Parts: sequence; structure tokens; C-alpha cells
Amino acid sequence: MKLTVVGMSGSYPGPRSPASCYLVEQEYAAGTFRLLLDLGNGALGPLQDHLDLAAIDAVLLSHLHADHCIDMCGLYVERKYYTSGPTPRVPVFGPAGTSERLARAYDLSADPGMTNEFDFRTFPEGPFPLGPFRVTARRVVHPVPAYAVRLEAEGRALTYSGDSGACDALVEIARGADLLLCEASFVEGASNPPGLHLTGREAAEHATRAEVGRLVLTHIPPVVDAEQVLGDAKPAYAGPVEVAACGATYTV
Ligand SMILES: [Zn+2]
Ligand SMILES: [Zn+2]
Repeated sequence: MKLTVVGMSGSYPGPRSPASCYLVEQEYAAGTFRLLLDLGNGALGPLQDHLDLAAIDAVLLSHLHADHCIDMCGLYVERKYYTSGPTPRVPVFGPAGTSERLARAYDLSADPGMTNEFDFRTFPEGPFPLGPFRVTARRVVHPVPAYAVRLEAEGRALTYSGDSGACDALVEIARGADLLLCEASFVEGASNPPGLHLTGREAAEHATRAEVGRLVLTHIPPVVDAEQVLGDAKPAYAGPVEVAACGATYTV
């Protein structure tokens, strides 16, 4: 599968990156299946450098903080008013209440909200098929219901942490993954609140415990020094590790 970093800024957009959004593409049937992991503030714009919005096959929302879901509002408008021809509803997986949360975000009534444009589904407990992918979502530690997501296809695996504090669930869902796209919002030495985010070192420790093949650090807020986050991570993980950059692609 091909992973493209559309936005990697943590908590809010920065001058050089939107908030969280990742495009995952996998050959499927006669074409390509295009899945979005999160659609945070600012991401809808540069996303159009990577695909025609009509080509989005599914969206997975790790949680309902604005920096992970709020550009669904723009995608809703695009699909409702600016597309022509048949527009099948896009499957959108997320925590319970995603449909209502996004209706409120756009100041819509809950019924129909965005349900004519999107087919909202709550993450199921176990693995489920989605196009060419086997998807697994696991609750991780965060102040609101939040999920890490694992995508498997053709014997390869990619895990995305979403937003997470330190937890065994993140290690388990990343177990043996070829690539772990892991949040690293904090730097070591600061008085970081527990149960919210990871430092680079903590992300690396999770990657080591999970024995992943590659670590990509992401969700770094604009005010945080990415080099410091990377420096915190390197001693705690022996494999290849780098900071996500907008437009970067990875073959998983
Ligand atoms: Zn976030
Ligand atoms: Zn969050």
C-alpha cells in the first residue's frame, strides 16, 4: 500500500502543514482504493493535490477532535453542492456519535445531518473488511474516545496511532507492523500531562515493544521542535525513524 502524508501538524495547522490527514492507496479490483485516515483542519485543500475528491472510497476518523475531523465539513459541502453525476455515500468510520458531532460542526440538524453524503459507521470491536483492507481499530488513551487503526493488505501492515497517551493497546495493534505512523506531540523533560499524547521517546518505546519495521513520527505541533522529538526517539528504537513531512510517501 502507498501512504501519503497530507497533513502532519499536531493539534492545529502550522505554516507548512495542515492538521492530521493521511492518504492510503491500495490496488483493488481493476483500480485503486483510496482511504483517508483523518481529515483535520486545513487538510482538504492540499488533499486535492493528491486525488480528485470524488475518488475517496472511505474515511476513517481516529477521534472527533477538530484537528482530526473538522474538514469533513468542507468535504460535505463539496459532495452536496459541487459534484455531478452519481455520488455514492462515502463510508465514514469513527467513534460512536460521529454523525451527530459532524452535523453540529456544520450547524445542521442531526437528521439528516450529513447522512445523505456519508455512510456513518461506528468502529466495530474486531477486524472488518474495507475494500482491499483488513481494518482493525483499538481504543487508545486520550481524553475522548480515540482509536488507533491497523490496515493490512497483501501481507503488509500499517498502524496509525491517532492521538494516544502511553498504552499497551497501541503496542498490540502495532505488533509486527511494517510501518508505525505514531504521534509524538511532546518533548522529553517538559511537564507533560498524562493520558494525552506521547513524546518521541515514548513513541519509539512503543515501536520497539511492537517490533515494527519502521517508525514515522507525526502530529508534531507547530511550536514543538521536530528535531528534538526525533532526537528523543532515536535512542529508544533501533530501526529507521523519521519525522513525517507533508507530501512524503511511503510504500508499505
Ligand atoms: Zn490531535
Ligand atoms: Zn486529540
